[in-house]
Amino acid sequence: MYNELIEKLAKDHSLTREEYLQLIRNRDKVRDRAAELACGVREHYYGNRIFIRGLIEFSNYCKNNCYYCGIRAGNRNAERYRLTGEQIISCADTGYGLGFRTFVLQGGEDPYYTDEMLTGIIRTIKQNHPDCALTLSLGERSYESYRLLKEAGADRYLLRHETANPAHYGTMHPAAMQWENRVQCLKWLKELGYQTGAGFMVGSPGQTEEDLAGEMLFLKEIDPQMVGIGPFIPHQDTPFKDKEAGTAELTTFLLSLIRLTLPGVLLPATTALGTIDPLGREKGIEAGANVLMPNLSPTDVREKYLLYDNKICTGEEAAQCLECLKQRVRKTGCEIVTDRGDYFPGANK
Ligand code: SAH
Repeated sequence: MYNELIEKLAKDHSLTREEYLQLIRNRDKVRDRAAELACGVREHYYGNRIFIRGLIEFSNYCKNNCYYCGIRAGNRNAERYRLTGEQIISCADTGYGLGFRTFVLQGGEDPYYTDEMLTGIIRTIKQNHPDCALTLSLGERSYESYRLLKEAGADRYLLRHETANPAHYGTMHPAAMQWENRVQCLKWLKELGYQTGAGFMVGSPGQTEEDLAGEMLFLKEIDPQMVGIGPFIPHQDTPFKDKEAGTAELTTFLLSLIRLTLPGVLLPATTALGTIDPLGREKGIEAGANVLMPNLSPTDVREKYLLYDNKICTGEEAAQCLECLKQRVRKTGCEIVTDRGDYFPGANK
């Protein structure tokens, strides 16, 4: 019966809440078939091509206090840094030389970077590299700010909703942060024409299997072009330091379900997945993921952008990381390519 459900998902790209829940509860019985179907769907849209995005972690200052995150404002032990506009632009130049054609600017919510500064940085990177896509991951901002950044040339925006359950959201964030606002931001981003990424942590404290079924329905409804998921991993200097981590086993199964629900979605095998399991990123690709996001940040700041404990790849140069990933990907039968890796309009239908 579970096998019928997974075949139905592969055919219809949608299930009821109860059906998703049945699959999640009985994932051991359908995992292999789910992965096989998910890889078939990925193959249909993208062949064996894995896209790379150069991640530039430009600031670990943050005004927020998410209970799970290592760079939360309240963490006095975090050594804070900010990259200058010039440093950010130079990271992109280095990345271009290595073959990257997408750059992701990610940081804590740091008001130091005004719209004016950011639009200047975006314009310069797009001028220097007109054949590249630029992705932002700067958290919640106003509609007007998102509009200005888009107008300056940003193409994509990653803003994980973290959980589709507002009550669960309330247990992971202080009252100043509201689920409704985050979801409003996601809708604005889509409306403004960004290729938009939603996503959630897997195995975050308090998350139930029912919640995960809810995640699938939420993603289907929002219909994002990208979905970022990774296991929750505790950070020693946060209120969630003693909570249990999420697993690679559950994360990879959910990657398959997401691929089957949103067939054309751009779906990363994340660094958190590679941290919880040494072969996590390979397993993610084998479950249906098609994006990797190696780090392009300068080596001396990498070990300061710590969202969770034991983060991998904080020591290597960008070129080393890329070489290592190419070899890892080859073992899965896929291949890293240097395209911009845009989303096909309508591919989730
Ligand atoms: N400030 C930006 C970027 C946040 S960091 C924003 O608000 O979107 C990117 C993602 O890392 C977060 O969305 C969250 O899902 C993930 N993350 C944060 N802490 C984590 C932890 N302890 N374990 C796993 N993932 C974590």
